[in-house]
Amino acid sequence: MTPDVLVVGAGLAGLRAAQLLTHRGLDVVVLDAADRPGGRMATDVVDGFRCDRGFQVLNTSYPALRAAANLPALDLRAFEPGAAIRGAGGRLHRFTNPARRPSQAVATAVDGLFGVADKAKLVAWTARVLAAPPSRTAGMIDRSAAQDLAAAGLDGPVVERFLRPFLSGVLGESALETSAGYVRLVWRSFALGTVAVPAEGMGALPAQLAAGLPDGVLRLGRRVTTVRPGVVHTADGELTARAVLVATDPVTAGTLLPGLDVAPMHALTTYYHVTDTPPAELPVLHLDATRGPVANTVVLTRAAPGYSPDRRSLISSTVLGAPQPEPEVRRELARIYGRPAGGWEHLHTADVRAALPAFRPGHPVRRDVALGDGLFVAGDHRDTPSTQGALVSGRRAAQAVLAHLGV
Ligand SMILES: Cc1cc2nc3c(=O)[nH]c(=O)nc-3n(C[C@H](O)[C@H](O)[C@H](O)COP(=O)(O)OP(=O)(O)OC[C@H]3O[C@@H](n4cnc5c(N)ncnc54)[C@H](O)[C@@H]3O)c2cc1C
Repeated sequence: MTPDVLVVGAGLAGLRAAQLLTHRGLDVVVLDAADRPGGRMATDVVDGFRCDRGFQVLNTSYPALRAAANLPALDLRAFEPGAAIRGAGGRLHRFTNPARRPSQAVATAVDGLFGVADKAKLVAWTARVLAAPPSRTAGMIDRSAAQDLAAAGLDGPVVERFLRPFLSGVLGESALETSAGYVRLVWRSFALGTVAVPAEGMGALPAQLAAGLPDGVLRLGRRVTTVRPGVVHTADGELTARAVLVATDPVTAGTLLPGLDVAPMHALTTYYHVTDTPPAELPVLHLDATRGPVANTVVLTRAAPGYSPDRRSLISSTVLGAPQPEPEVRRELARIYGRPAGGWEHLHTADVRAALPAFRPGHPVRRDVALGDGLFVAGDHRDTPSTQGALVSGRRAAQAVLAHLGV
C-alpha cells in the first residue's frame, strides 16, 4: 500500500506532523532510525535513576506544547522560578521574577549582585519584551542578543553575573551571538510560564505523542538513506508516497536534502551525580557568576522525586560543549552549592554533541518547510531551536502537506 505521506524522523517535529495528518484522515507512515521515538528528547534509566539525554525542561507557556500534548497526563513537576547565583565573593544570590514570587521581591530588589540602576534597566527591558506581540519580536533578526542587550543599556555586571550565566545554558553558547528575536521570545516564555519536567522524565512527552498515533503508523529501526520526491530508500528497500516529509535532526536533513541551509550545532554535556544529602533545599536552577565550566545545575529530585528509585537525590549539571574532566566539574559544583561534593557518586554523563542548532541573526524565525515536488522539511532548525520550535515546524509542515494534497 502506498501511504499518503511518509515522515522521516519521529522526533517532536515528525510526531506533531503525523498527529495532525492522521487526525485529518491521511494514511501516514513514520520511519525512524532509532529504537524509540523522541529523537533528542529522551530519558535513559541508569541504575534506576531517570537521566534525561541532556538537561532540558518544558515551559508551560509554549503555545505549541499546550496544543500538541495532554499536559496534565504528563504529571509535570515544576521548578522554582528564577535562579540562585553564586557570586565571586562566595555569597549565594537569589533572583526571581517579582510578579511570580511577590514575597521575594524586596530581597531581589536589595540584592547586591548588580546595581539598582541595572535592575531598573532589566525591568524596563523585560516590560518591553512582554508588551511586544511575539510576531513582531520574532522579526528582530538584524542583531544578536549581545547587541540587543547593549542597546538597552544592559552591560557590565548585570550581563556578566546574571544574564550570560542564565542564558548560556538555554542557548548552548555564552557569547550571546544568538538572534535577538529568539532570545526575547525565550525571555518572554520564562517570564510567563512555569518550567517543569514530566514526573517520568522528558521522554514521556514524545512517548505520549507516539502513543496517540494509530497502530502501524510508527516504524522504528528504519534508517532512511536517500530521499527524493515521492520516494525514500531504507536498507529494506524503496517506499513511495504522495508526499515525503523529512523531520530528522538538522545534520541528517542537510545530508538527505542537499542544498538545504542547515546551521552548525551547539554541544551540551550533562553530568548526573547522586548523593544522600541534597545540597539545596529548593528545586531552583543554580548558576555561577564567575566563568567556570558549569552553565547550570539543579537538584532534579527536589522538583521530581520520581527521577530517583529511592530517597537519594539526583543532581543534574550542564556544561557547554564537549565533556570536561569530571573532577573539575565537581569542584565547581561544590563552590556553587557551598557544600562538599567529594562524596557524590558520578552516575552518568550525557554527551550530546549535536544538541541545539545555532540561531544566528539574519535568519527568519520561520523558514520554508515546502521544498516543492511534494517534498517537505520540518524540525527545530526550521523554526526556533526548542520544543516550541520543533512542534511549530511539525504543524507548519503538516499544513503545507495538506495544502499540497488538496485536503
Ligand atoms: C541537551 C538538550 C537540551 C535541550 N533543552 C531544551 C530546553 O530546555 N527547552 C526547549 O524548549 N528545548 C530544548 N532542547 C531542544 C529540543 O529538545 C529540540 O529542539 C527538539 O527535541 C528537536 O526535535 P526535532 O523533531 O526537530 O528533532 P530530533 O529530536 O533530532 O528528531 C529527529 C528524529 O529523526 C530521526 N532520524 C535521524 N536520521 C534519520 C534517518 N536517516 N532515518 C530515519 N530517522 C532518522 C532521529 O532518530 C530522531 O528521532 C534541548 C535539546 C537538547 C539536545
